[in-house]
Amino acid sequence: MGRIPDLPCDIEQVVDLLGIEVIRDTGTQLHCRCPFCADRKAHLNVKIRDNVFRCNRCGKGGGILHLYAEFCDVSLHTAYEELCKVFGSESGEKPRECSPKRRVIETVELPIASAEVRDNTYSNLLSLLSLCPTHQASLRERGLTQDEIEQLGYRTTPTTRLKRIVTELLERGCVLDGVPGFYCQKETGQWTLDIRGSGIMIPDRNFDGQIEAIQVRLDRVYNQKFYNLTSVDKYYGTPARCCPHYVGVQEGDEVVCVTEGVMKADLAYHFALGSQYECGFAGLTGVPSYSQYERLLQELSELGVQRLNIMIDSDYQDNDKVRTARDRYIELGAEAGFEVAPITWSRRQKGIDDLYKHLFRSK
Ligand SMILES: [Zn+2]
Repeated sequence: MGRIPDLPCDIEQVVDLLGIEVIRDTGTQLHCRCPFCADRKAHLNVKIRDNVFRCNRCGKGGGILHLYAEFCDVSLHTAYEELCKVFGSESGEKPRECSPKRRVIETVELPIASAEVRDNTYSNLLSLLSLCPTHQASLRERGLTQDEIEQLGYRTTPTTRLKRIVTELLERGCVLDGVPGFYCQKETGQWTLDIRGSGIMIPDRNFDGQIEAIQVRLDRVYNQKFYNLTSVDKYYGTPARCCPHYVGVQEGDEVVCVTEGVMKADLAYHFALGSQYECGFAGLTGVPSYSQYERLLQELSELGVQRLNIMIDSDYQDNDKVRTARDRYIELGAEAGFEVAPITWSRRQKGIDDLYKHLFRSK
């Protein structure tokens, strides 16, 4: 809608004209750094065929004229006149093939390293870091004991010393290629670590205890509470890939509890230890995450697990997205041959960790 019939250019040409940074070009869509907000990634989505754009971060969107008008801070009418002047044709004829050099940032993306390599690099990385007193206090507040905090190996994201940390890792022989979170600085060729927000680093461990990924619980919540350590869109960077997080699951277990989030699984498992509810946990990073759930089902079936206790946050009762995911988990679990037990509790306790803390840790 709203496409002026004789506008002598398409949206791609206007993106080039305005020098908007294109991070990825899929052929049908451009993923750009949004010029209208403090976008550091590629939230501005341009649909080439439809000649429309929209930023998933700030919500700005529209057609060719809106893009130009918003960018240059002029009226739609002026935008129209200026674009006609630039792409010049009163006759309505389109000057084609005239956008020579798009500024595509080269983002050579590396394939993800094996679980062994990631585990080695992440274990070494965490061994170089510590957990700050504020984070220790917040974890005690959530119900953990000091011993448990030490055992879990959570760390505070580093904000300084990044260069020293990377140098130390390289000296230890750690591989950084293909490990999400690490990338090369294009100008200097030096490896560095991509910290996109400060918070608590939580190791995401597979059944063998290998750290396949790191979740970060952010100190300041914008859109979400967690993000996964990543260097997507960076030079020699790699996007994050999480695994189902196992805590306390052992070969021969008949029952496993399934919840959302690495930290939630850790907390719930530790709170129930020694009680009648003691049971191994698997945490999925984010709801929904069906591919991860399918991997989980596969692995649990190989382990001979028979029953799944589905322990999704009680807000599924009000939140459609969560309820749909929960229903699907139940369905897929049953299809895979498990006995599936959806567990429900009062809305007063949001997560299973809150419920268990209430049951076992409040004095
Ligand atoms: Zn934006």
